[in-house]
Amino acid sequence: MTALKVLVTGATGRTGSLVLQKLRSLPDKFEAIGFGRSLLKIQEKFDSTTNFALGDIANPEDLETAISGCDALVTLTSAVPKMKAPPQEGQKPEFEFEPGGLPEQVDWIGQKNQIDAAKQAGVKHIVLVGSMGGTNLNHPLNNLGNGNILIWKRKAEQYLIDSGINYTIIRAGGLLDQPGGKRELIVGKDDTLLTSPPNGIPPNIPREDVAELVVQALIQPNAINKAFDVISKPEDDSTAVITSDTKQLFAQTTSGL
Ligand code: NAP
Repeated sequence: MTALKVLVTGATGRTGSLVLQKLRSLPDKFEAIGFGRSLLKIQEKFDSTTNFALGDIANPEDLETAISGCDALVTLTSAVPKMKAPPQEGQKPEFEFEPGGLPEQVDWIGQKNQIDAAKQAGVKHIVLVGSMGGTNLNHPLNNLGNGNILIWKRKAEQYLIDSGINYTIIRAGGLLDQPGGKRELIVGKDDTLLTSPPNGIPPNIPREDVAELVVQALIQPNAINKAFDVISKPEDDSTAVITSDTKQLFAQTTSGL
């Protein structure tokens, strides 16, 4: 069996780098190419630029070159709000986006560029990691820097579904830098895990668990054409049964936004 050639965008990011490491640890299954815009960050995170494509998702040509010959795309890019300055006592912090880094530019146009390049290159499957909260136009994250980040992310998810390419859309709850493989994962849809979380648990999930779901989505056929929300029970939850069977988890998910 030949290895699946996968391009991972956002590969210098906190979840993207985990996905790239995991894919590279399975060389019989995957040939993983990272896509990043900063040579310095690539070298810092991976010690080497081998099997990396340097580029910006704002530039369709960069993506077209990088994705040529790939079977699958994993997209983990995101606009990142930055605090303007430490808030004065009693004041709320204010956020902004770097020039060129607005959610409309990164999470909509940048995602659209990736999907268009993938379609042109004949890519068979796109795994997109998004965010829960997109059904609520008034979600506080939309106010950060007036970026409407969740609205643009959701628009890109619909664009992916409409593209006709096989998709898996993983909308994560709040991301934690904690170990993976230690929790029960819970899937849902339409932000119900946010509006009425089971037993009031915090709607969070470790980045490592999300990264593993991305890898499994590339392996398990029943992750194809599914879009779902995902959180985890806390590690010390006495009712938790650690999720080991992702096939069974994907079986609980459905098609469409
Ligand atoms: P992250 O660390 O913020 O990484 C974002 C990545 O996007 C970085 O690698 C960044 O590159 C890249 N990027 C941004 N603009 C780019 C451009 N123009 N061209 C090329 N690359 C660009 O991501 P994360 O926190 O792991 O989140 C992963 C995903 O989960 C995102 O979609 C996020 O919205 C979603 N999510 C996050 C949370 C949370 O709690 N943070 C919750 C739910 C879902 P540089 O490294 O060069 O900056």
